[in-house]
Amino acid sequence: MSRGVAIVTGGGRGIGAATARLAAARGYAVAIFYRSGKAAADGVVAAIERADGRAIAVQVDVGREDDVLRGLRAADALGPLTLLVNNAGIVGPIGRLDTLDAAGLYDVLRTNVAGAFLCAREAVKRMSTAHGGQGGSIVNVSSGAAENGSPGVYVHYAASKAALDAMTIGLAREVAREGIRVNAVRPGLIDTDIHVGRPPGQLDTLLAQTPMGRIGTPDEIAAAILWLASDEAGFVTAALLDARGGKY
Ligand code: NAP
Repeated sequence: MSRGVAIVTGGGRGIGAATARLAAARGYAVAIFYRSGKAAADGVVAAIERADGRAIAVQVDVGREDDVLRGLRAADALGPLTLLVNNAGIVGPIGRLDTLDAAGLYDVLRTNVAGAFLCAREAVKRMSTAHGGQGGSIVNVSSGAAENGSPGVYVHYAASKAALDAMTIGLAREVAREGIRVNAVRPGLIDTDIHVGRPPGQLDTLLAQTPMGRIGTPDEIAAAILWLASDEAGFVTAALLDARGGKY
């Protein structure tokens, strides 16, 4: 059954790749936006096609407006947009705020905040019944960091995810009568490449803050995202769903 088109930003690796594959299995045609990882994104497309799904990979830096507009046009060619997963994200520099360099800060805010806003804006223009659309769903991939603030690790990243939470709530209420639901998933520690380059021992510290005592999988986050997008979550909007093994 065709469910329309899902855009998954950062869909070539990690949580985004798992989400793209699951969305395709659930009947969406998938547009994967990647920044520089073409081979990985092409690999996800190939896996989806082998399973008889439909997918394309488009080079889109979500922090660049012209890229986003081009990416949305490429997705339009697949059919009507029904799901946007704002997943692309970076942590930026790791360390205390008094060591933060400006370029690293701007890159995090541009990718995690501006990127999600630009993609959401274009999705609303297509999905909203006020714009002649058929409705749809937006799922933002936030982080438990939005709540705990990540002191000593990356307060700037935590703040960028808190901005995403505020957008989730505000936009959800703004378009609630226009057929669009907007929700967020807040993962805890998930097994992806985003942790490459952390100082020794930091992952062990984060794991020790996880009552379930294990790292989560990208598939577990993808399942939460696709549930929020599904009809089963039809009365769920403006929700921030924690999927973090109880992590504080
Ligand atoms: P990952 O394995 O490092 O993958 C990040 C993805 O984002 C990559 O596909 C990357 O594309 C893409 N990306 C980065 N900057 C981009 C940009 N400017 N434009 C387009 N795509 C961009 O990370 P992940 O762990 O799967 O993270 C996915 C999301 O989950 C992020 O928003 C992250 O903050 C959030 N999250 C992760 C965890 C965790 O423990 N893993 C916990 C909480 C929240 P390229 O392949 O082209 O580089």
